[in-house]
Amino acid sequence: MGSRPSFDRRELVGPFDIVGDVHGCADELELLLEKLGYDVALDGDRVSVTPPAGRMLVFVGDLTDRGPRTPDVLRIAMAMSDAGTALCVEGNHDNKFARWLSGANVKTAHGLQMSVDQMAEEAPAFHARARKFFAGLPPYLWLDGGKLVVAHAGLKEDMLGRSDGKVRSFALYGDTTGETDGFGFPVRRNWALEHDGEPAIVYGHVAAPEVQAVNNTWCIDTGCCFGGHLTALRWPEKELVSVPAARVYYSPDKPLADRTR
Ligand code: MN
Repeated sequence: MGSRPSFDRRELVGPFDIVGDVHGCADELELLLEKLGYDVALDGDRVSVTPPAGRMLVFVGDLTDRGPRTPDVLRIAMAMSDAGTALCVEGNHDNKFARWLSGANVKTAHGLQMSVDQMAEEAPAFHARARKFFAGLPPYLWLDGGKLVVAHAGLKEDMLGRSDGKVRSFALYGDTTGETDGFGFPVRRNWALEHDGEPAIVYGHVAAPEVQAVNNTWCIDTGCCFGGHLTALRWPEKELVSVPAARVYYSPDKPLADRTR
């Protein structure tokens, strides 16, 4: 029996609770988990989260940056990952945070500086644990017999089964054109418009006031760190559960307008 790639978890049939971009918003993550029926106990470094029977959490990535409690978000994700009760894909912020953790000289714009400051309070062992956690994250997850895909910025169906550089880049950053817009951000094509409906693709990355559902693709980043909501999609129920942000933690670098499709 050959080893399978980390992204191929088609044997896991759920049910799942898929959580959008958390970005250091641990207060809202705890509230969302409780609303989803998870029992959360945080006591310093000791974290235990007990899911409702049979359910599993899946993070769309971007656990870090902008919010006030990135280390606690990592504590929750790492404890659940160790316990086998959560899966997580890598987001672009996680990728850059992990490069910073490994000593790379990266720019600390877009909220990374907040994580850097918060991590200064954490012990070297915690840094090492986080490095190991990020190094093990898959570029996307293929779940539920192939019916469900979770990728931070989305994925095209014909990329399934691959994890080359082009696929990894798409999963982290989306369908970028190489151009930048008037705010200095990458111009993105909306790949979801061409999706033919199967499998379901659940992603985050582009914050909008409401969940964007089109052709059985679901963008569940509702901008919690910008004062929006933290949202989960329950699978296979396709039911949305969300909690409002307690406040605006970070001002968007460009207007958070609802996207028209
Ligand atoms: Mn994000």
